[in-house]
Amino acid sequence: MTDYLVGAHVSAAGGVDKAVARAHEIGANAFALFTKNQRQWTAKPLTDETIRLFRAACQRYRFTPEQILPHDSYLINLGHPEKDKLDKSRAAFLDELQRCEQLGLTLLNFHPGSHLRMISEEDCLDIIAESINEALSQTTGVTAVIENTAGQGSNLGYRFEHLARIIEQVDDKTRVGVCIDTCHAFAGGYDLRTAGACEATFAEFSDVVGFEYLRGMHLNDAKVSLGSRKDRHHSLGEGEIGAEAFRFIMQDARFKGIPMVLETIDPAIWDQEIAWLRSCTSAVS
Ligand SMILES: [Zn+2]
Ligand SMILES: [Zn+2]
Repeated sequence: MTDYLVGAHVSAAGGVDKAVARAHEIGANAFALFTKNQRQWTAKPLTDETIRLFRAACQRYRFTPEQILPHDSYLINLGHPEKDKLDKSRAAFLDELQRCEQLGLTLLNFHPGSHLRMISEEDCLDIIAESINEALSQTTGVTAVIENTAGQGSNLGYRFEHLARIIEQVDDKTRVGVCIDTCHAFAGGYDLRTAGACEATFAEFSDVVGFEYLRGMHLNDAKVSLGSRKDRHHSLGEGEIGAEAFRFIMQDARFKGIPMVLETIDPAIWDQEIAWLRSCTSAVS
């Protein structure tokens, strides 16, 4: 039976295997992690020992690749308008995918990219699609999971249409998907404050992108208002979105079986947030 998979983006300090134990400690059955320092371009290759420890931890705490949603470095811009910088981003993205392959992971979550006000949104989206095609052609088994963004600065991905335009141009549709971050969606102008608003927003997602591409969720409340185009996360129920959106998601079978990850601001209450999310499902079943 497919379950709702909830967890948090846990720290990988001390080694990627430590992230697995941290996820277990907060009662998660899904988690996200960085497989390298997210603020640096390069990292030491994963050693055989690190890979072994990670795989052993996943087995011990019963996490399968479907429950794990690694996130790439914040430095990468797959839509960079300048050739040399685009190449640097593409090389770093390939490295991220290869690290996932080595760890036996099947998903890689990333932000689409930014046009830096140098090229049009459309041209930037097309470069992003080409970046994904290049990376997928050099790897196997890992799906590129595009995250919607808040649309801060010149970041693309704040409209579902952006995600759809990228997917349309990806050659291997079986290895491209999306992750919806609720805070980013709200900041991008998609209302989630009531069950009715959630119905409408996810109906729009279904029409424009399609639930068959949904491979993960980031469950975050927002410190900022609807359509503010600012990326400020908050704890569930504490922000402008409010608790109803998360209750809605936990009672909608379309969200079963994909990693749903908290990136909320207070790691000390992640265990409580996870327990509360689960209680939303059991309230109706
Ligand atoms: Zn992200
Ligand atoms: Zn996110």
